[in-house]
Amino acid sequence: MFTASLNLEALQSQAPPQKDASYKSWEDVYRQQWRWDKISWGTHCVDCYPGNCPYRVYVKDGIVWREEPAGIFPIVEQGVPDMNPMGCQKGAMWSQMLYAKDRVLHPLKRAGQRGKGQWKRISWDEALSEIADSIIDAIQENGPESVIHASTPSQGGFMAGITLAPLIHNLGALNTDVQGEINDFAPGLYITFGKFNPVSSVDDWFQSELIFIWHRNPVYTAIPWYHFVAEARYKGAEVVTVAPDFNASAVHADYHATVRPGTDAALALAMCKTIIDEGLYDASFVKEQTDLALLVRLDNHRFLRAGDVQDGGREDQFYFYDSNTRQLVEAPRGPLTLGKLDPALEGTFQAKLKDGTGVEVTPVFALLRRRLEDYTPEKASQICGTNPEVIRLLGEVFAAGQAYALSAAAEGSSTSTRPCTVRSSASATRSGSSTYEHATAAVVRAMSSAATFTRCVSEPGSNPSEPSTEGELIGNESAR
Ligand code: SF4
Repeated sequence: MFTASLNLEALQSQAPPQKDASYKSWEDVYRQQWRWDKISWGTHCVDCYPGNCPYRVYVKDGIVWREEPAGIFPIVEQGVPDMNPMGCQKGAMWSQMLYAKDRVLHPLKRAGQRGKGQWKRISWDEALSEIADSIIDAIQENGPESVIHASTPSQGGFMAGITLAPLIHNLGALNTDVQGEINDFAPGLYITFGKFNPVSSVDDWFQSELIFIWHRNPVYTAIPWYHFVAEARYKGAEVVTVAPDFNASAVHADYHATVRPGTDAALALAMCKTIIDEGLYDASFVKEQTDLALLVRLDNHRFLRAGDVQDGGREDQFYFYDSNTRQLVEAPRGPLTLGKLDPALEGTFQAKLKDGTGVEVTPVFALLRRRLEDYTPEKASQICGTNPEVIRLLGEVFAAGQAYALSAAAEGSSTSTRPCTVRSSASATRSGSSTYEHATAAVVRAMSSAATFTRCVSEPGSNPSEPSTEGELIGNESAR
């Protein structure tokens, strides 16, 4: 009835008079719901992530009567469910926005006190002239930097930004950082993996043995994708939700761990400590694929570099302590394959500097282990409120499976992220975990570290990053 009423209003306001004459009431419209003049394609690309779900749009008498998910995606990988149907209830009602009474279709100028909601319609010429005059006045009175464009993916989406940003730039005015505006960013991923969004396509969740939903509530916020979590669980995967509230995603999880809002980093670090203390990490992976075996100078906490030990040495040449030959050796800079090298993860060693003096060095892993002394499950529990035994269990579970960690930004759990999984697990941590201060460094890096200890970064269903043979190490420590 509601849709029919809306369509009646749209018909009466937009359709040619001879057409709307045949629709006297919403009942007339309702009876015509399943007839249409043509079918078009549509989607919703403004500020919707994932977005771009393909829709069939049914048009009659010049207006959209209804839309439905098209469900046209093919199977990409045998044995893995396809993406269909892709859609959500908001998308299915999107056309109502086209005909909503308060949709702004013309330039409006405030005609009363600010906040009173009084507006008058003006022409496009008037609107553009007034905006241009205001910009010129601002530049003349206070300089171009007094003009600020607050970047946003909405209100026209990136297309609006693409056209407006160059104008603002050429004026010498300011464009704010859209990632800073909406926090859809996770520098912690850059810092750890060297990539902004080091994740596979969402259907990889299906391959996971364990799905960690952390900083996210995908039942609400990733509706087109969530079926992969449900399908993986049906196949046998376990689902863990870490969230302060028993949210809609927790309802469908095998474990729900509560955490105080904003304290997830302590929980993640205590999980890391459990994984290391109980020897659950994958030492060969850690030595080859991460920077945890590289030596750090204890005098300045920077990596030991060739420039420290020889004249003209490279700044990007780092060192291991080889347990086989018991000496410092240059870390591979090309392919990461270690061959006969066995880099030490523990211990303190002497390095001779080019001026003849010596300095103590130790692997990043040893420093990390020391840092984690502050995050025993018991100590972390006092911060995050999660029971120490639950923290240990989470660390053990994470290390045992092929995990995928879903974590997202702004999605309403303790921080909100995209899903993340373990060993056959991946970490799609992003914006949710960027929405509070220090979250990206603290939470994303802590969560990502757990993945790097356990090879949850290279197997199907465990995403974040491909194993590297080309010299890209996964970074866990701030020494640089
Ligand atoms: S998630 Fe919903 S709103 Fe976004 S594109 Fe898909 S159907 Fe549209």
